[in-house]
Amino acid sequence: HLGNETIKAELGRASWKLFHTILARYPEKPTAEEREALSSYIYLFSRVYPCGECASHFQKLLKKFPPQTSSRIAASQWGCHVHNQVNSRLGKKIFDCNTIAEKYQCGCADDGDDGAT
Ligand code: FAD
Repeated sequence: HLGNETIKAELGRASWKLFHTILARYPEKPTAEEREALSSYIYLFSRVYPCGECASHFQKLLKKFPPQTSSRIAASQWGCHVHNQVNSRLGKKIFDCNTIAEKYQCGCADDGDDGAT
């Protein structure tokens, strides 16, 4: 069977994928309700994330870098920044945050070219 580190890494990749895709599709001009929803989602995610060590580190990161919900760009750049904080702690490469808009598409038709095929 798969080792624990392998399973933890797979969960991490799946979670980051959903996390960045949500932020990349977040409204450009969110309403107060949408801002509240994103903020709640992120804080609740940090509480329910099933790797306890990861969750407690992530909660500390949220204290240092509170979620930015004012716009799609603010939110997606914030998400890239916090993931880079995790990368740096785990000794991984720092990701170039200029490429996230193209990288995280949802395949859903809404405002403009989302890469859906
Ligand atoms: P991942 O870090 O999973 O990234 C997946 C892909 O996302 C990369 O291949 C790259 O294409 C892209 N990417 C990389 N950086 C960024 C970025 N900054 N912005 C956007 N896209 C990017 N593991 C632990 O061992 N200890 C922990 O404490 C820990 N904490 C975690 C906390 C959270 C909230 C999450 C979601 C995961 C955590 N993990 C932790 C898992 C860890 O972050 C990785 O997901 C896992 O180690 C697999 O790493 P990876 O090298 O495949 O790439």
